Amino acid sequence: MRIAVAEIAQETDSFSSLTADLTDFESYGLYFGAEILQRMPGVGPIGGFLEIAAGQTAPVTILPIVRAFGSAGGTITAETFAFLVDKLVEGLKQSLPLDGVFLSLHGAAASTHEDDVEGALLQAARNVVGDKIPIVVALDHHANITQRMVACANALIGHETQPHDPPATGRKAAKVLFRMLHGEIRPTVRWRKIPMITPQDQFLTSAGPMKEWFDLARQMEQRRGVLDVSPYPMQPWLDVAEGGWAVVVHTDDNPELAQALASEMAEKAWSLRDQFWVSARVAPSEAVRQAVAAERGLVILSDTGDSVFGGAPGDSTCILRALLEQRIDGPAFVPMVDAAAVTAALIAGVGASLTFALGGKMDNLFSQPVQVSGKVVAVSQGFTVDLQDRGICDLGRTALLQVGSIFIALLQHRCFAINHPVLYSHLGLDIADAKMVVLKTASNFQFFQRWRHQLVRVDSPGTTQSDLTAFHWQRLPRPIYPLDQVTRTKETKA
Ligand SMILES: [Zn+2]
Repeated sequence: MRIAVAEIAQETDSFSSLTADLTDFESYGLYFGAEILQRMPGVGPIGGFLEIAAGQTAPVTILPIVRAFGSAGGTITAETFAFLVDKLVEGLKQSLPLDGVFLSLHGAAASTHEDDVEGALLQAARNVVGDKIPIVVALDHHANITQRMVACANALIGHETQPHDPPATGRKAAKVLFRMLHGEIRPTVRWRKIPMITPQDQFLTSAGPMKEWFDLARQMEQRRGVLDVSPYPMQPWLDVAEGGWAVVVHTDDNPELAQALASEMAEKAWSLRDQFWVSARVAPSEAVRQAVAAERGLVILSDTGDSVFGGAPGDSTCILRALLEQRIDGPAFVPMVDAAAVTAALIAGVGASLTFALGGKMDNLFSQPVQVSGKVVAVSQGFTVDLQDRGICDLGRTALLQVGSIFIALLQHRCFAINHPVLYSHLGLDIADAKMVVLKTASNFQFFQRWRHQLVRVDSPGTTQSDLTAFHWQRLPRPIYPLDQVTRTKETKA
């Protein structure tokens, strides 16, 4: 049994001033061929696939093609998109004949001249392997599902939770693929587009309306003949022609059941639409006041507008400015992506005093540089760390600047560790000593769970801000809730 495996995943923030090129993919892990089999066990959806493949009784020949993970960032350049399509197509051609294809895609990637990156990748793969070979896809559930994606794939399996468990999604998708290859099932797909976008504030699947919606999917999967029910609450900073929420239902050769469940899921999301907009965000100055007033730490200040995991640059000075203005006295840990500041700190060395304009350089639409004077207390010429199921993380050069009781971790570039304790521990800090920490995410607080006492969602402006009505939408299909009056959900043709 010959199965080709590839991952091409990036989450595009259409409102980001950044563009994504090959260096973005290189810094998060760009591997080809056999290197994928060495690097990916236990990592991401491919890690999950490899686990299920290893448990098969029949011999499985895995043909690894490309692993290009770009995390979240700006729109992908046309050149990089063409490179990735080419790698996939060439790799598939060289792997023929094939029995199946396993792809790990994000689902919300866009390129300069291509709104629907995943649809284009799936179309390219389908053109190579033909209509008879199953293509099963593991997706992020913040994907934007398009007509072409549904037409070109046999199954589109999304994450079950936010925060995500990518290896689990890989295992779930791999099981569908192997059951197809063994002739045990014949997946039928029906789907519904849901004309809405909602901010990140209710994106956790552990509580609120998102839990209710995802729980319904899990209940439906208990029914006889239902293979998978994947809800797709699209990430809300994607301004593309087919944008909006969706649900995809896979049954074992039962189109009527699939259609009925897709409709029920779509109506459920629609009925909860106002609840998805409930938010407890507070202004930056008020957020800092609440953190100061907390009887103990750790208080997480969630910088919702500058979510690096949502594609923002990570150099917003909005919360830092409020911390400086209020002259806080409890230790605050703050990350800041600023390559020039890192270089200045490394040249000056530990113990040196520095004054410069920090941050607000990549995104200077929503935030501006802030003047700081501080002491360099630690520097690092480079550091890579194994973050288990998230893979190897290259932090690059970093430095720690102390401004009173504010400890600013300066990063050369954006990386996964910006929302991970290792950013601070590798510079000699202990999270247990902090009263508050700024996280550049609105959902992924799990790595600080051990210390977390309080969470404050900061209503910070930025390319991942929660006020979606404030963006200048150009390509999103209209009408869409809540930008327009929409009276009912629309049927999607199967
Ligand atoms: Zn996601």
